Amino acid sequence: MVPRVVYGRGSFDQLADIILPNRRNSEAPFIFLVDDFFQGKELEQRIPWLFNDQIIFISADEEPKTAQVDALVQKIKNDFDEAPSGVVGIGGGTLLDLAKAVAIMLNNKGCASQYQGWDLVGRPAVYHVGVPTISGTGAEVSRTTVLLGPDKKLGINSDYTPFDQVVLDPDLVATVPKAQWFYTGMDCFIHCVESLEGTYLNAFSQSYGEKAHDLCQEVFLGDLPQNKAEEKLMMASWHGGMSIAYSQVGVAHAMSYGLSYVLGTKHGLGNCLVFQHLQEFYPRGVALFLKMKEKHDIDFPHGLCKGLTASELETMAQIALSMEPLWENALGKNWKDRITQDQLQQIYQKI
Ligand code: NAD
Ligand code: ZN
Repeated sequence: MVPRVVYGRGSFDQLADIILPNRRNSEAPFIFLVDDFFQGKELEQRIPWLFNDQIIFISADEEPKTAQVDALVQKIKNDFDEAPSGVVGIGGGTLLDLAKAVAIMLNNKGCASQYQGWDLVGRPAVYHVGVPTISGTGAEVSRTTVLLGPDKKLGINSDYTPFDQVVLDPDLVATVPKAQWFYTGMDCFIHCVESLEGTYLNAFSQSYGEKAHDLCQEVFLGDLPQNKAEEKLMMASWHGGMSIAYSQVGVAHAMSYGLSYVLGTKHGLGNCLVFQHLQEFYPRGVALFLKMKEKHDIDFPHGLCKGLTASELETMAQIALSMEPLWENALGKNWKDRITQDQLQQIYQKI
């Protein structure tokens, strides 16, 4: 779990004080990995850099890759004689995952792809701080950093992955475009549904999942003023992430991985595209989801899988089916008797 968290509007300005005790000396920099949306914006001026700290702006247009992590680590090692004092990720799930992975790889030998899996990281990461600027993924609280590698899309799941410190400042999400707000927010809602409806559910996951589910309903179906909605969705994301920490996600995430692997569809949108067709698995969740979509007048792209070849569709379904723990959580130990590749291909063809 994340051991330290600060919450509140304006709390971003406490970052200087928060990281100060972790500065080893003036030669050991802090590296700020920042979503390039903020380049030239007011937030850039508020990043508390000192001495020879480095700010690296990164585009979140594509999901993080293992090669990108390796290149960043190499650049940091080339640029400085001293090892960094810390890494700060500022952005959505993409930047948070990059910051976690870079912090791990600065202290571990080899390439990031060698650590994709469960508990393969041998040495603690460099001190790392997460500052989310969009709510929903739960990446700020989770024990994984999801990376696209040369042959798989899989997280580095380890006890060294979670941030040492998180700063939750709801002011930072004000500029998120509406469609992106919905896609990433629905990632959180889908985490809750998949956790609460899953066979891995336990009292720990349920207590967080129910809270996050309620908050999502308030945010997406209630009539909250914008500031309250921002604050509640930030906490929904946190609780949704905590809920899956001790259970698993399910059908939508498995199928969204397939979509992303073949078409590069981003996580939030991919989950939405799949989830709208999952009535047979999550009838109540999908009904609520469709109500939320209608209330906010959100349109999804159509016909994404229309032009795919038979072999591309097969790959999509095979990638989805390879996520075994997700299926076991969703459908139970005998999940292989309950789902076929053909069924999945039929769902994909509706997208
Ligand atoms: P993102 O980080 O990919 O960003 C989406 C878009 O929003 C980008 O264009 C970005 O520039 C923009 N953006 C971010 N903050 C903004 C702001 N305040 N104002 C304006 N624009 C802003 O979005 P995401 O949905 O948060 O993250 C998706 C990523 O998270 C995927 O790579 C996925 O694999 C990962 N993920 C990780 C976990 C985990 O537990 N580690 C869980 C779920 C998803
Ligand atoms: Zn997710």
